[in-house]
Amino acid sequence: MKADILSIGHELLMGELTDSNAAWIATRLPRLGISLNQISIVGDDINRLVETLSLALSRSDIIITTGGLGPTQDDLTREAVAAVFQEIPKVQPEIVEQLERYFESRGQVMPQTNIKQAQLIPSAHFIPNKYGTAPGWWSEKNDKIIINLPGPPGEMKPLWLEQIEPDLKQKATGEITVTRTIKTLGMSEGRIDEILTEHFGQTNPYLGIYSKQDGIHLRIISRAPNESEALQLLKPMEESITSQLLEYIWGYDTDTPAESCGKLLTAQDLTVSLWDTCTGGMLASSITAIRGSSKIFTLGLITYSNQSKINILKVERNIIVKHGAVSYETCLSMVKNLSLISKTHISVSITGVAGPKGGTKRKPVGLVYIGVKKGKKILI
Ligand code: ATP
Ligand code: MG
Repeated sequence: MKADILSIGHELLMGELTDSNAAWIATRLPRLGISLNQISIVGDDINRLVETLSLALSRSDIIITTGGLGPTQDDLTREAVAAVFQEIPKVQPEIVEQLERYFESRGQVMPQTNIKQAQLIPSAHFIPNKYGTAPGWWSEKNDKIIINLPGPPGEMKPLWLEQIEPDLKQKATGEITVTRTIKTLGMSEGRIDEILTEHFGQTNPYLGIYSKQDGIHLRIISRAPNESEALQLLKPMEESITSQLLEYIWGYDTDTPAESCGKLLTAQDLTVSLWDTCTGGMLASSITAIRGSSKIFTLGLITYSNQSKINILKVERNIIVKHGAVSYETCLSMVKNLSLISKTHISVSITGVAGPKGGTKRKPVGLVYIGVKKGKKILI
């Protein structure tokens, strides 16, 4: 089966909003056996919408749209679908009641404009939306499916996962694609290529290698008539790579470095503290974004003046004067002093020239010292 995705909204065309919906949906299609023909961005213009929908219908079996389901005059997705299917929308009283109850539960009266959201054409049924006011539409006519989802990602994603994906799984007939990403750090791309040479060049499963900010990623892609066969096909390659790169692997699929560190710390019941004079709190923020972080993260400090380093945690003035704030010696002193007051299993200090301005020839932008102290062991 082939699909087109349409992201609808003036904000997208103006460059004020980046289309993340289409990219997210695109990642969900391969495992359903649906191949994507095209992603289009269309403004809130009925003629353009009808034109783009018609073109998409001429080449694809499924059209997925996001946005333009709100109550206002510029929300025209429903009108466009009605036009391409040549049907007339009618208000559904039970949906009007539901909308009225939704507003009532928030102590408000439903504006009359919202009645528009209770309209339906004969070829469509509603996709109930408990996350907002705009119900989606699922329309089917002449072997074509049009799925209209609301624009806010916080509504679109759960509706997709709960109501769209299970139904599409039943309908899709093509080969499905399964991927497994193995994330490594510490070994160069060339060396990995050498070690895994026997796996490259195969087509199913296919192995790709990608250099990313958080290391080298290996992606195995397999195709089969169903998910379990595709997983079976992929497994021997995954096991072989895992055994060969074992100590360099830090995560799989959607894992982030912070999540993987968090899992390790939690599993070993370890606590961590952090003194940051480089990332402006970004490091602490990545730790607190992990579920259960309060069990592992005890203390975080951000200091941006030398005086605060000296006053707060007694980094010796002469170390900073002699070597500078961004130096091995200051980083060492920071991590030692931090561990004295935090009493965590692991203490981390970070000092550096984050840029974009402020570097010198001797200390260029990008120079960063990271200190890690665990027990008596210190690593800078
Ligand atoms: P609503 O009832 O909330 O108006 P809607 O279906 O009419 O729903 P839009 O008005 O098109 O949706 O968009 C509402 C908001 O959803 C946008 O302001 C934006 O924050 C988010 N949004 C819409 N489309 C996208 C997209 N393609 N990618 C990311 N965010 C989007
Ligand atoms: Mg809207």
